[in-house]
Amino acid sequence: MTDYTKILLDESEMPTRWYNIVADLPVPPPPPLHPGTLQPATADDFAALFPRALIEQEMSTERYIDIPGEVLDVYRLWRPSPLFRAHRLEKLLDTPAKIYYKYEGVSPAGSHKPNTAVPQVWYNAQEGIRKLTTETGAGQWGSSLAFACAQFGLECEIWQVAASYRSKPHRRTMMEIWGGKVHPSPSNLTEFGRSLLAQDPDHPGSLGIAISEAVSEAIQDPHTRYALGSVLNHVLLHQTIIGEEALLQLAKVGETPDVLVGCTGGGSNFGGLAFPFLREKLAGRMNPVIRCVEPTACPTLTRGQYRYDFGDTAGLTPLMKMHTLGHAFIPEPIHAGGLRYHGMAPLVSHVLDLGLVEAIAIPQVECFEGAIRFARSEGIVPAPEPTHAIAATIREAIACRERGEQKVILTALCGHGHLDLASYDKFLSGGMRDLELTDAMLAEGMRGVPEIG
Ligand SMILES: *Cc1c(COP(=O)(O)O)cnc(C)c1O
Repeated sequence: MTDYTKILLDESEMPTRWYNIVADLPVPPPPPLHPGTLQPATADDFAALFPRALIEQEMSTERYIDIPGEVLDVYRLWRPSPLFRAHRLEKLLDTPAKIYYKYEGVSPAGSHKPNTAVPQVWYNAQEGIRKLTTETGAGQWGSSLAFACAQFGLECEIWQVAASYRSKPHRRTMMEIWGGKVHPSPSNLTEFGRSLLAQDPDHPGSLGIAISEAVSEAIQDPHTRYALGSVLNHVLLHQTIIGEEALLQLAKVGETPDVLVGCTGGGSNFGGLAFPFLREKLAGRMNPVIRCVEPTACPTLTRGQYRYDFGDTAGLTPLMKMHTLGHAFIPEPIHAGGLRYHGMAPLVSHVLDLGLVEAIAIPQVECFEGAIRFARSEGIVPAPEPTHAIAATIREAIACRERGEQKVILTALCGHGHLDLASYDKFLSGGMRDLELTDAMLAEGMRGVPEIG
């Protein structure tokens, strides 16, 4: 067989439905709870936040959900995305392993996030919603939602974590190009924001705080809803187009993966790539080891606790059972802004708890070392988040060299780093450090997490 470098699908081969892993899990995932009654949350509990169609997807147990035609039309701007065989990285590492990466940086926003932004905006538009609010960290999600809102004529208002608002001005420009309105968070537009600014006028913010602000704005207006870029079931559902395409692409070259690795912030690019492969694994058609990779500075899966917690800092969301560092935990400002979230997708936490996947943490300096090797061999400059997946891939490839194993490794390169060059500058000038996270700091973060039996 020809040793392809770039494995492409025709537009006509693009999958037309998303995959819902809930249908195939051996144990159903624990439901979200209403924070007042502690009973399983109902569709009504989410009605002020999300349109009906997305709430149905959030609670769905259907195995497949058709992708609406107008969403497929927008997907075709960049999908199907390419799958690459990393011949040059393999050579650099002198490994017998075969490395494949699915590249999501070809989207307009430069990451996988438009895969869910586009359907989320479309479903809101169908129900007459005129405006969406959201939070963003480094700006990947805010720019993806602004792009999708521009496609369907909705307004978009974004609370960006203040530290990133100040340090990453170009992502804000991108959001504004697509018509988004951007505020630093904490902001003086919400009561919660004002209370935090009163304590510290230079508050750096966090994703949890920005979510609280965006949610509190959305619930005040009947024509406004909120959109979340990760964590929730419907978000992971939309991202499964990544894994469905990758399955078709690997089949074209007659491969099945032995190891699959993805970076986990809220779990959406990981779930999107991994869940269709987990379906195949559960059905006994392949048996890959599936590995989550997170930063040591925000080690939700490897050092967090698996219990009910809020998705936001103010405690406005339903309680979700997930690995958490505590909703008050404010991670150090590492360069992978998209991986600085205190919680995790409940579905990713659940499959980890069931032992169907595993998790490791890698410090950021090793990640950037890996990214530089990747860029110098494969060419693409990765976003800071998938440098974690690359570093884990390199670890695995080196282990293959040492053991003389020809494993097939599949990873997700979920975004490019063209707007993250300041992070690379810091690394190249020797100014990047690994930050120690002590047990005491972790214990502090867990204070205030509700005790639920
Ligand atoms: C947002 C983001 C992440 C983290 O989110 P997940 O839901 O874990 O995928 C990772 N990589 C990139 C490029 C992102 O934009």
